[in-house]
Amino acid sequence: MRTIDVAEVTAVVAELCKKANFELGEDVLAAFKKALEDELSLTGKDILQQLIENARIAREEEVPMCQDTGFAVVFLEVGQEVHFTGGDLYAAVNEGVRRGYTEGYLRKSIVGHPFRRQNTGDNTPAVIHTRIVPGDRVKITVAPKGGGSENMSALRMLKPAEGEEGVKRFVLEVVKNAGPNPCPPLVVGVGIGGTMEKAALLAKEALLRPLGEPHPDEDVARLERELLESINRLGIGPQGLGGRVTALAVHVEVFPCHIASLPVAVNLNCHASRHKEALL
Ligand code: SF4
Repeated sequence: MRTIDVAEVTAVVAELCKKANFELGEDVLAAFKKALEDELSLTGKDILQQLIENARIAREEEVPMCQDTGFAVVFLEVGQEVHFTGGDLYAAVNEGVRRGYTEGYLRKSIVGHPFRRQNTGDNTPAVIHTRIVPGDRVKITVAPKGGGSENMSALRMLKPAEGEEGVKRFVLEVVKNAGPNPCPPLVVGVGIGGTMEKAALLAKEALLRPLGEPHPDEDVARLERELLESINRLGIGPQGLGGRVTALAVHVEVFPCHIASLPVAVNLNCHASRHKEALL
């Protein structure tokens, strides 16, 4: 049994909140550069260049790459040999978010109640997803999620007979309806199967995969390629001002499902496709 003081978790979460907002991943930057080659629209090219420059400034000057510094979504993969000491694990995560958002001068975007809508003032609470895994390590991933792209995400319970074609129709419908609102170029996370909430979580987890890395199952990888091609034929383009590059990548995750169900969730991520991780 390995002992970890939750104070360590707080410190790591605080750093990851800042890093995720300041430093765009190398995979996303590489995708911007490739998009610059693929894009034909001059306005689209100009926007992509500005996004690359924006990422450089954010990294060098340690300022957020977007004013919307997001809901702090935190994934914890906890080894079953780990024993936490020093307090409540989730309180420690929230303290990390509080510290990170305050120290980093990151915008506080969370209201404490969906109707009363008073800002909590420190970007807490985080949305925390925990998975117990073998071993004695703890992997912490912080993925700040912007409101604009989250708002355009959607879930539908399809009939099993609608099959792969039904899934494609739904994903394209979501991206088309979203138009410029989720700040393209997008990363499109798709979760297929499971129950309603499992599909939504799969779609969110799909956004964490290194950009453009195909799913190991060849059929799923083919679906990802076909969806990306179809999405990029919609003509929405960078920032919705027209062009070939509406999405940088489509990542699909699948899970077994009930004989009567075919749940599909689409979680859109904007060009500020942020997540950072650490291993304790
Ligand atoms: S959707 Fe993304 S890029 Fe657009 S405002 Fe929100 S966080 Fe920023």
